[in-house]
Amino acid sequence: MIVITIDQNAIEERLLPSLSPSTWWENFIPKKVNVFMWKFRLDRLLLRINLATRGINVASIQCHVCNNQLESMDHLFFVCETANNLWSRIKVWIDIDMPSCSSWYDWWQWFENIDQRHRKKEKIYAIGTATLWLLWRFL
Ligand SMILES: [Zn+2]
Repeated sequence: MIVITIDQNAIEERLLPSLSPSTWWENFIPKKVNVFMWKFRLDRLLLRINLATRGINVASIQCHVCNNQLESMDHLFFVCETANNLWSRIKVWIDIDMPSCSSWYDWWQWFENIDQRHRKKEKIYAIGTATLWLLWRFL
């Protein structure tokens, strides 16, 4: 008698595509924020630097808010003074020890390592993505 054992996880890892963060869709945040985050994670927002990279003639690739640095995603959403001030207020508001992040990668690394119950983590994600969306809408 031949016994065949099947490792379901190994099969799934080989056959199923991995779930990239860029394709995450969270039901607890508004659809428009999900769509925004999809573009955000793929760095497909219509930032000046992205437009110039795609060959579109833009008058300047400097940040339209501060005019001090290139208008990259990390600058506009984390480093620029307006964004930095908003993140500081968010930290106080939700009373959490969030480090000063200079990029989405920094924020995501911090978020992934939050050692709290799932419900609170969900709320932090919702607040974080809403903050990014508000910065995009109003800057
Ligand atoms: Zn700026």
